[in-house]
Amino acid sequence: MAIITTNISQAAEVLIAGNIIGLPTETVYGLAGNMFNESALRAIYETKHRPLKNPLIAHIASIARLSEVAAHIPPAAMQLAEAFWPGPLTLVLPKQPHVPLLATAQKSTVAIRIPNHALALELLNAIDFPLAAPSANPFGTISPTSAQHVANYFHGKIPLILDGGACTVGIESTIIGFQGNQPVLYRHGSLSLEQIEAVVGKVIQITENETAPDAPGMLAKHYSPLTPLIFTKNIVQVIAQFAAETRIGILAFQSFQHSVIPVQQIEILSPSGNTYEAATNLYAALHRLDALKLDLIIAEELPPVGLGNSINDRLNRAAK
Ligand code: AMP
Ligand code: MG
Repeated sequence: MAIITTNISQAAEVLIAGNIIGLPTETVYGLAGNMFNESALRAIYETKHRPLKNPLIAHIASIARLSEVAAHIPPAAMQLAEAFWPGPLTLVLPKQPHVPLLATAQKSTVAIRIPNHALALELLNAIDFPLAAPSANPFGTISPTSAQHVANYFHGKIPLILDGGACTVGIESTIIGFQGNQPVLYRHGSLSLEQIEAVVGKVIQITENETAPDAPGMLAKHYSPLTPLIFTKNIVQVIAQFAAETRIGILAFQSFQHSVIPVQQIEILSPSGNTYEAATNLYAALHRLDALKLDLIIAEELPPVGLGNSINDRLNRAAK
């Protein structure tokens, strides 16, 4: 049974011994281990059932330590790091030779970020290695935004979960790579493209390409509940297609008007229509709906502003 604790030194001890932990961050919880320890890296992949071709993100304590993992930092990357770290932005940079290829899925690049979470930063400052961490969920399933979600997935399988409360941001980081000094978007995330482009100008987008090799968060099917999910602009119209005995859960953005067919559960992501609040609530709402073992979840498309695109991206993959 995993210990759920707020004790940093206990978490550091587990990591120094080469084991893995549940790590709170502002985006989602991570499944973290010493990036320079191959057996910790193997434990991350095995525990998650993550294919070895999907690279991990290095979590570091400060920009001063960036060169421990990155061999080269283009000027645009440094501008972004200074503007948004600590924060939900992951930069993909050429790796230092000593970063294990197991962590980068044999790539010559490594994904890196500084999480904006007090406990995570305290922990990273207490150890002298970066933490490799993908999200703390079995591959392809709904991401965890609380220590309890991590425990539900991995209770007997990891020794410790650092409890940092509910994630304040709630969806994964935005991932940016570089072609020379030109930023390229690999994954929509919790830093909007508008915010990034305000700092470095136009960003090239390649996230629509399902076969793009670089970012498994881009796989067509991902972030999925066990319950079938339909993603739509018009919930009422979809409900009308089902019989009264179908047990339906609703995931709506701002509000939902009761329909002729009764629904079992209604989750509203942001009554005030704020896409950032909706992101914070997204995964917990999906976890609650999935736990009810309904016949169907109907999720509503958000407007394409703020984090609307990033949420729609997740719901679209959840529906596949
Ligand atoms: P997650 O699995 O949500 O924790 O996020 C990790 C994601 O970071 C991976 O699935 C990739 O999408 C991305 N990533 C990590 N390393 C690289 C890399 N070297 N190049 C491109 N994307 C990467
Ligand atoms: Mg993930």
